[in-house]
Amino acid sequence: MHWHSRLVQPQSLAPTGFKSLTTPVHRASTVVFDRQVDVNDGWRQAQTGYSYGLYGTPTALELGARIAQIEGALHSFVVPGGQAAFALIYLSHCQTGSHTLLPHTAYGPNKAMAQGLLKGLGIEVEGYDPLIGAGIAALIRPNTSLVWVESPGSVTMEVQDVPAICAATHARGVPVALDNTYAAGVLFDAFAHGVDISMQALTKYVGGHSDLLLGTVSVNSEAGCERVGAIYKQLGLAVSPDDCSLALRGLQTLGVRLAHLETATLDVARWLTEQPEIATVLHPALSSCPGHALWQRDFTGSASVFSVLFNDTYSAQQVEAFVDGLQLFKIGMSWGGVTSLALVYPELVRPGADHAGRLVRINVGLEDVGDLKADLAQSLQALGHPRAEGRPHG
Ligand SMILES: *Cc1c(COP(=O)(O)O)cnc(C)c1O
Repeated sequence: MHWHSRLVQPQSLAPTGFKSLTTPVHRASTVVFDRQVDVNDGWRQAQTGYSYGLYGTPTALELGARIAQIEGALHSFVVPGGQAAFALIYLSHCQTGSHTLLPHTAYGPNKAMAQGLLKGLGIEVEGYDPLIGAGIAALIRPNTSLVWVESPGSVTMEVQDVPAICAATHARGVPVALDNTYAAGVLFDAFAHGVDISMQALTKYVGGHSDLLLGTVSVNSEAGCERVGAIYKQLGLAVSPDDCSLALRGLQTLGVRLAHLETATLDVARWLTEQPEIATVLHPALSSCPGHALWQRDFTGSASVFSVLFNDTYSAQQVEAFVDGLQLFKIGMSWGGVTSLALVYPELVRPGADHAGRLVRINVGLEDVGDLKADLAQSLQALGHPRAEGRPHG
C-alpha cells in the first residue's frame, strides 16, 4: 500500500484491553458495516446495530442509557439542549389544528416557542394556572394532544399537583409532558407520578459546571418511544460526544453536589426570610412558596434555585442596584453550575401577579455559605433601610 492509503485506512495499532474508569469519546459520522446486507439507517441502534453518528455514538448512547436508568425510563433521547427537547416533544405530539396546555409559569423560551414557531404551524398553545390541579379537565378539548407541566415553575416556583393533572388528563386520553429540570430528573420521580414524557436540560445539574448544553427526552412506553423516535430521526438532533463525556463526568458528582446545594441553598433562603428588605422567599421547601405542601408530598429534596421578592418600598432601580452590588453572585442566565448567580426579572408576566422589577432569581453555587450571606448582606445594606410606608403587596 502507498503510504497515502495507509494513512487513510482505519487501523488499530494500540494494544487492546485498556480498562479505564471513563467512557471513551467516540467521534463519528460514518459507521461501517461488515456486509451490504447489514446496512440500515435506523435510529434505534441498540436493537438494529450502529448505523450513523447522527443517532448517537456510543458516548451519547451511554449517557442516554444512564439517564434512563436514573429516571426509571424505557428510553432517553439525548438532544442538543433543553430547548431542543421542547421542540422534539411538541413536534412529536402536535400537528396543525392541535391544542396544547402550558402553565403560565413555564420556562420563558418554551412559551416563546409556543407563541412563535408553533403558532405559525397552526398549533394552539393555551396558558393555564399552574395551581389548577384536577381542574385542568375543564380546559381539555377534543383536539388537545398534549398537556405540559413544569414543577416548580420557572422563576416564581409554583409547585404543581402533577398526579392530579396527570389523572384528569389521562382520563381524556391525552399524554402529559414534564419539564423536570429543577429536579435534575432525580428529586421528583416523573413516571411514578403519572407523567408520560419527561425532559430535562442536562445543561443545569447534570453538566453542573456551566460549560455544556445538552437535554434529554425520556419516555416510559414503547409507543411513546416510537412516536418520539420517528421525529427525533427527522430533526437531526446530533450531539457532541465531547459534551456527552462531560455530562457523564457530571453524573458522577451529581449526588454530592445536589446534597450540598440543598443544604447551602436552604441556609441562604432562610436567612433571606429574616431580612427586612425581602417580602417573600419563593423556595419550594419553605411554606411561603405556592404549592409547598405538594413539594412535601411529592419531592425527595430541593435544589439550588429560588427567587426573592423585594418589599414594594423598593424601586426597580434599587433592586437592580442590589444585583449590581453583589460580588460573589454573578449576573447570568442558566443555573445549576458551581458559581452563585443572581438576576432580576424586569418583565415577569404572570396573570394576576405583577412582580415587575422586584423579583430576583438566585442560584446558589459551591462557594462558602458564610461568604455568600455576607455578600448578600453588604449589597442589601448598601440600599439603605426600607421605608416604613408603601403600598401593600399581594
Ligand atoms: C434552562 C432551562 C431549559 C432549557 O435548557 P437549555 O439547555 O438552556 O436549552 C428548560 N427548562 C428549564 C426549566 C430551564 O431552566
